[in-house]
Amino acid sequence: MAVATAADRLLATVIDGGYCIGCGACAALPNTAFRTEMDDRGRLQAVAGVGGDRDLPYSAVCPFGDDAPSETEVARSLFATSGGATGLTWDDRIGASALLLAGHVAEETYQARGASGGMGSWILCQLLERGLVDAIIHVVSEPGDERLFRYRISSSIDEVRQGSHSAYYPVEMSEMLRAARQSGRRHAIVGIPCFVKAVRLLARADPAIRAAVPYCVGIFSGHLKSTDFAAMLGWEVGIAPGELSAIDFRTKLPDPPASRYAMTATGPSGSVVQPMADVYGHEWGMGFFKYPACDSCDDVAAETADIAIGDAWLPEFASDPRGSNVVIVREPKLVAIVRDAVRDGRLSMVPITADDVVRSQRGAFRHRRELLPDRLALADARGVWRPKTRSTAKAGTPEQRELNLARERIRDASPQAMAAARSVGQLRVLKERMDPLIQGFAQVRPRATSANRGGGGRLSRLLGRRKG
Ligand SMILES: Cc1cc2nc3c(=O)[nH]c(=O)nc-3n(C[C@H](O)[C@H](O)[C@H](O)COP(=O)(O)OP(=O)(O)OC[C@H]3O[C@@H](n4cnc5c(N)ncnc54)[C@H](O)[C@@H]3O)c2cc1C
Ligand code: SF4
Repeated sequence: MAVATAADRLLATVIDGGYCIGCGACAALPNTAFRTEMDDRGRLQAVAGVGGDRDLPYSAVCPFGDDAPSETEVARSLFATSGGATGLTWDDRIGASALLLAGHVAEETYQARGASGGMGSWILCQLLERGLVDAIIHVVSEPGDERLFRYRISSSIDEVRQGSHSAYYPVEMSEMLRAARQSGRRHAIVGIPCFVKAVRLLARADPAIRAAVPYCVGIFSGHLKSTDFAAMLGWEVGIAPGELSAIDFRTKLPDPPASRYAMTATGPSGSVVQPMADVYGHEWGMGFFKYPACDSCDDVAAETADIAIGDAWLPEFASDPRGSNVVIVREPKLVAIVRDAVRDGRLSMVPITADDVVRSQRGAFRHRRELLPDRLALADARGVWRPKTRSTAKAGTPEQRELNLARERIRDASPQAMAAARSVGQLRVLKERMDPLIQGFAQVRPRATSANRGGGGRLSRLLGRRKG
C-alpha cells in the first residue's frame, strides 16, 4: 500500500477540509509541490501540481497544519528570552507585550493616508529608514489588475507609503517570499495573524527565510474576505462585477465617529464613495464571504508578530475621524523606536492595558474566543477534520449554537448567492437569497451575546441602505 506523502496529508486535511487561507506558505518552500490559485469563489487556495517534492514539511509551515505549533509556542520561542530586557508580560488574550499604546502617528501624513492611525506604514518606514531591513514585503492596490491587491517588495519610503490602507481581499505571499529568499536582502513583512504565523513557521523550516525576513508586522484581523466582497460593494454602487478596477475599503469621512468610514469603488465611469454602513452585507459580524479558516482561529492580535497594530475601536478615540490605532510592541528594538517617538511627539499615543485592547476588539474576541469552543464541538460532532486550536471544544449554550449556525449559513450561502446573482446579472438575486439569513442572524445575535442586548443586531442596520 502506498504511504501518503506530506503533500497528500496537507491536501486531505487543511485543503480538502476547506481551511486553506491561501497564504502561500506551502507554495514558498523550495521545490514545492504546491502553488496558489484563485478558485471559482474568489478565494486564493493552495493546489498541488504534477512536479515538486511531495515530502516537504507542508503541515509544519501551514498555519492550520497538523504539525504546526500553536501561536503561544511560536511566540514564546521568539519573545520569551527578551523578557528581562523589556519587561515583557503575557496575556492569554493578546499574547506577549512589552508596550501597549493607543493613538495615532503625529508626523507627516501617515494618519491621513492610513487605514486608521497610520502606525502600520510608519513602523515599516522606520525599519527601512533605520537600516534594520533593506526592503518591505507589503500589500498594495493594483488598479486595473485582475487581482486588485497583491503583495509587493518595496525598497523606498515612497513605495512603502503607497501600501497604506487595508485590503479586505485575498493576497498570497509565496512569490515575494521566494524573491526575498533569493535576494540576499533583509525584509520586514506585514500580514494578518495567520499570515505572520505562516512566515514564522517557514522561518523555522527554512533558514534562508529566517535570514531574509527578520521582522514581522502584524495587523489585527476579524476575518479575511474573498474577492466577492469587493465585487458586491462595487455592484452596490452600480459597478458590475468585472468592471471594478479599484477599491478603497477604508475611505475616511470628515465627521466622527471614526467607525463610520466609507468605501470608494472605481469603475469605467469613475469613482463612487459610499458610507460603508449604507452598503448591503457590510457588517463584519455577519461574515459575508468569510474564509472558513477564520472561524477556527483564536489569534486576534497577531500574537507571533514583533509588533501588532489594530483599530482603536474605543469610545475615547471615536471622536477623531482621522483614525486611531491600538499597538502591541513585543520586540526590543521596536520598543525603543516606538518609545523614542512617543517621547518626541512623533507618535501621539498613550499607554493602555490589555483589557483596553480586548475592549477595542470586542466583537472579534467574542467570536474568536467565547464562541469558538462551541464551533469546535460542532465540527467534532460532525466528525470532520479541523485544525488544532488553543481553545478546547465544548458545546455552548443553545443561543451560542444558534448564533454560530446563523453565521455559518451566511458565510457558506453568500458565495453561492453571489454566483447566482452574477449568472443573471442582477444583484437583487443575492439580496433575495441572503435577506432571510440576515433576518435569522438579527434575531439570534441579541439572544446569544449580552453586549448586543438592546438592539445591537437591528435588522435595518444589518441590511444597509435598501437598494438594488
Ligand atoms: C483582512 C483584514 C481584516 C482586519 N480586521 C481588523 C479587525 O477586526 N480589527 C482591527 O482593529 N483591525 C483590523 N484590520 C486592520 C485595520 O484595517 C488596519 O489595517 C490597521 O488598523 C492598520 O492601520 P494603519 O492606519 O495603522 O496602517 P496603514 O498605514 O494603513 O498600513 C497598513 C499596512 O497593512 C498592509 N496591508 C493592508 N492589507 C493587507 C492584507 N490583506 N494583508 C497584509 N497586509 C496588508 C499594507 O500594505 C500596509 O503596509 C484588518 C485588516 C485586514 C487586512
Ligand atoms: S500554507 Fe497557506 S496556502 Fe498552503 S495550505 Fe496552508 S493555508 Fe493554504
